[in-house]
Amino acid sequence: MNKEIVLKSRPVGKPTSANFEVKDIPDPIVQDGELLLRAKIFSVDPYMRGRMSDAKSYVAPYELNKAIAGGAIAEVIKSRDARFVVGDHVLGMFPWQASFTANASSCTKVDGSAAPLGYYLGILGMPGLTAYFGLLDIGNPQKGETVVVSGAAGAVGMVVGQIAKIKGCRVVGIVGDRVKASYLKAEMGFDEVVCYKDSPNLSAEIAAACPNGVDVYFDNVGGEISDLVLEQISKGARIVICGQIALYNSVEKPTGPRVQVGLLKNSALMKGFIVSDYSDRFPEGVSALVQWIKEGKLSYAQTVEKGFEKLPEALISLFDGKNTGKLLVEV
Ligand code: NAP
Repeated sequence: MNKEIVLKSRPVGKPTSANFEVKDIPDPIVQDGELLLRAKIFSVDPYMRGRMSDAKSYVAPYELNKAIAGGAIAEVIKSRDARFVVGDHVLGMFPWQASFTANASSCTKVDGSAAPLGYYLGILGMPGLTAYFGLLDIGNPQKGETVVVSGAAGAVGMVVGQIAKIKGCRVVGIVGDRVKASYLKAEMGFDEVVCYKDSPNLSAEIAAACPNGVDVYFDNVGGEISDLVLEQISKGARIVICGQIALYNSVEKPTGPRVQVGLLKNSALMKGFIVSDYSDRFPEGVSALVQWIKEGKLSYAQTVEKGFEKLPEALISLFDGKNTGKLLVEV
């Protein structure tokens, strides 16, 4: 018997396990042009929270009582397409099902001997490309500048910080706990890391870590943390709006300081983006990331949960900061 995890109800506020349901389903039957796949690794990502709501966004909402779907790696069990053979690993947007079929044209073959399979969902996949294009294209970091990144120990944030170091910047991270802070300084070359959960005066700590102000702010979290960083921007600052995870569970319309005066006075740029804006340049991003990994300039961390039924819990845990680096669920 096969199984799947469906969206049972739409969350109000932070999702709970009651919003999901595990169901028994029949085994899939493969047709011409399709692959029969067994799930190996699922990616859980903050944007999935948006899809659990029915608000209009850049991706369609999940349908109630249908399988959740997201980035995943699967193994080919049967192939009815000449481009794939049994045992190949493929990357795609797949349903939360233990086994399933997919149109072969929607699958990308990945090589587990060239990189750990999880990397195709992390540093060499959507989060790594998000860091690469958001930082370099919008942030445009220059040697000697100060780059601040929030959500710094996450799948996107740790890549942002390391690329900024490669570009010769002073890098300041903002994270939720001291273990993550120590890790980023010891293993990833961050110059300073501020811990927002136990800071007695976060504004003063950010100011102390950025004596020349903030030239680039890569915003993964939004909310009050970002309000405080924006108070410290320097002339000509670039603010990259990548994510707003602090607001994804808000039930009320978020309010905050009016930022326009600060942007005006500092001739600053604030720009949001979605990684798919850069889809025609993905090969460039992947080859730069691969090259930096080979040169030992870029490293990565993964937090791996085990077991298909752990998927909902893992997704929810993103909002508690349980992960360091890319959060994956291995089946
Ligand atoms: P991630 O950082 O690996 O995981 C989420 C992290 O966010 C948690 O580990 C937690 O770390 C932090 N967090 C959770 N709730 C928070 C809160 N209320 N305030 C501050 N920090 C909080 O996730 P990711 O995949 O790298 O994504 C990071 C951000 O980028 C997300 O906002 C995501 O939506 C966005 N994103 C955007 C794009 C795009 O195309 N624009 C693409 C990918 C991701 P702490 O322990 O530090 O709190």
